[in-house]
Amino acid sequence: MSSIPDLATLHALGAAQQPSYPDRTAVDAAVQRLRTAPPLVFAGECDELKGKIAQVARGQAFLLQGGDCAETFAGVTADNVRNKLRVLLQMAVVLTYAASVPVVKVGRIAGQYAKPRSSDLETRNGVTLPAYRGDAVNGYDFTPEARIPDPQRLVDVYNSSASTLNLVRAFVTGGYADLRQVHTWNTDFVRESPVGQQYEAMANEIERALTFMKAIGADPDEFHRVDFHSSHEALVLEYEHALTRIDSRTSTPYDVSGHFVWIGERTRQLDGAHVELMSHIRNPIGVKLGPSTSPDDALALAAKLNPDNEPGRLTFITRFGAGKIRDGLPTLVEKVTAAGLEVAWVCDPMHGNTFEASSGYKTRRFGDVIDEVQGFFDVHRSLGTWPGGLHVELTGDDVTECVGGGEDLLEMDLGNRYESVCDPRLNRVQSLELAFLVAEMLRATTS
Ligand code: PEP
Ligand code: MN
Repeated sequence: MSSIPDLATLHALGAAQQPSYPDRTAVDAAVQRLRTAPPLVFAGECDELKGKIAQVARGQAFLLQGGDCAETFAGVTADNVRNKLRVLLQMAVVLTYAASVPVVKVGRIAGQYAKPRSSDLETRNGVTLPAYRGDAVNGYDFTPEARIPDPQRLVDVYNSSASTLNLVRAFVTGGYADLRQVHTWNTDFVRESPVGQQYEAMANEIERALTFMKAIGADPDEFHRVDFHSSHEALVLEYEHALTRIDSRTSTPYDVSGHFVWIGERTRQLDGAHVELMSHIRNPIGVKLGPSTSPDDALALAAKLNPDNEPGRLTFITRFGAGKIRDGLPTLVEKVTAAGLEVAWVCDPMHGNTFEASSGYKTRRFGDVIDEVQGFFDVHRSLGTWPGGLHVELTGDDVTECVGGGEDLLEMDLGNRYESVCDPRLNRVQSLELAFLVAEMLRATTS
């Protein structure tokens, strides 16, 4: 049985991006509360996802991982959760149908509340306060009181994640995700858009195929429900540690706060606390790799996080930026492949492409997102490796946070409906457009 280091030992290793809590007693109380809370996910479900990601690593499936940059407590409403799920289901069906590849569906959902920040402080109009670190840590309001880290928020993360996951589970098994619903997912403003029309035509084809299948007596369970998994960045050590439990079946530790957890670009130090904690759990995990990652860094991370080279255990999520991926990614993939490592390669085309618009909004160009994904596919094609998936920030709503796309959103439109509390997300139309473009790239790969 592998034992998990205690929190003090982890902190002693050095943990980047942690809240500075003013009151340790309150932290201990929150951690105690979380330690006795029931698991949010089962270890067996994590293993099932690991098996699916193993198929991604072997080139037999494609991973679609998406959701908010930062979930908020106020965002835990039925409409909001359904809208996110709906856009992911639409994207997944486009990818599955157009490329005939199984799609593994993972939300950045039910736990994505803690944010690493490039600066500890934020200044507005000459006033400087601690930066907002996600609802898991402090409040978004720009007041001294709101910005004080409050450990009770970790318990709120647990409760919000539990109610989100409860609704997601009901949606995916209770009929909403039934393939015969493909038309009903295409609603309101999206249906009217050109990409909505393209989707509608595809949904008609799917419906005809389903009717045919039914007529010949085939109506498998897979048509009526989908597998959907939760994921988040494992950032606040107190939360992840308190929700790490020994699985009774295998006597090994799992982080039961989500099915898949990842280590961010800013916390992947080889000897740091995050890598150490994640090395002990048995969940499928990811590591974000930015343009500064050397092949040796990647090999060392794999050796520490996946010493048995178990397929499905480790996903490398690259986030180079459109301008850097074609130069930077090949050596990384080459060396990791030459070392015989079984990893799933996933492209995050968001985090290397953020810039500040003249209006002050953080944004991303849809064209850059597409360009990075295309670069990712090109690199893998030239190396004969599998472009395993896509990791995106999106929302099910009609927000105006990323510029470009078929609706040609302009920088001056950003203020119309900018709702993200952290990074800019693709709206529903942009997400669907992305899915159709990626489906084309996937089809070119598999044909
Ligand atoms: C994120 O996924 O929101 C994030 C902060 O990513 P990265 O660690 O790659 O910067
Ligand atoms: Mn982000």
